[in-house]
Amino acid sequence: SVIIFPFLGVLAGITTWLLLGRMGSPLAQMKSALLNHQFIPYLQPLVEGDNYAVIGAEALMRWQHPKVGMIPPDQFIPLAEQSGLIVPMTQMMMKQVSNYFAPRASQLPIGFHFSFNISASHCTDMGLLEDCKAFLAAFFDHPVLLVLELTERELICPNEITTRLFRELHKLGVLLAIDDFGTGHSSLSYVQQFEIDALKIDQSFIAKIGTDALSAHIVDNVIDLAKRLNLNIVAEGIETRKQAEYLRAFKLDYLQGYLFGRPQPMSEFAKQWLNQINP
Ligand code: C2E
Ligand code: CA
Ligand code: CA
Ligand code: CA
Repeated sequence: SVIIFPFLGVLAGITTWLLLGRMGSPLAQMKSALLNHQFIPYLQPLVEGDNYAVIGAEALMRWQHPKVGMIPPDQFIPLAEQSGLIVPMTQMMMKQVSNYFAPRASQLPIGFHFSFNISASHCTDMGLLEDCKAFLAAFFDHPVLLVLELTERELICPNEITTRLFRELHKLGVLLAIDDFGTGHSSLSYVQQFEIDALKIDQSFIAKIGTDALSAHIVDNVIDLAKRLNLNIVAEGIETRKQAEYLRAFKLDYLQGYLFGRPQPMSEFAKQWLNQINP
């Protein structure tokens, strides 16, 4: 069972793996971590493309392990997906975010977005609709926008359940975004079928900005393609002023990246960004 623990490439990953290896099967550990509320959301700000005002946050999961420390998602999401644990883990993340922010919702700017990453395997589960309803209901007196990010790396194959799920989510006002745009193969028909609202240009393209002429051409082309689909566009992984300046000409809707803010615990996010909104 030690062998199945996620596919680690980096040294930090190997250290985690060694430590966890002595503490029972990875799956058993994840189950107990779930019961012990060790999966927590970190929030990264989303800013408006024209004035860099904070208008939303993406929830990124962390495993706060009592012995190992903070474990990044790459190291446990694959096993969570294979085992189905991703469903209750995501539910708990949404619950934690609404529990923390609904009582502070008056401090959020109008039209604030909360976005969550949703695995393909989760999209065959009508329970997701109930979780979204509960999330939005918690903000009944200060409504927020709820965004679900679906990665282009594993596109959902449309079947009866997913089609109904997405139709109902749409009616509820939940927005759908394609994450990691440009790395996979989302087609125009996919975008139309699931009534996608936004595209998040993969950070690998943003990282190419300012490297060489060919790379600039690739970035321009991906943005062009996204623009032709006529959806809201988010650029993520912006680390430098140079990248932000380059993107200005494209008048993108939203930006995200370390330049604007790193993922941080909810209380720190609130301290840093909400006071600024409502001092
Ligand atoms: P993602 O959804 O594409 O999230 C963006 C990743 O890039 C995050 O890594 C974020 O911390 C990082 N990032 C943000 N800005 C910058 C930047 O300026 N430079 C660089 N180099 N990186 C930046 P993180 O938090 O390690 O998450 C990795 C991936 O794990 C996510 O990629 C997502 O696919 C997955 N993930 C995270 N949380 C969840 C979750 O709750 N559910 C599911 N299903 N997947 C999740
Ligand atoms: Ca994402
Ligand atoms: Ca992404
Ligand atoms: Ca990614």
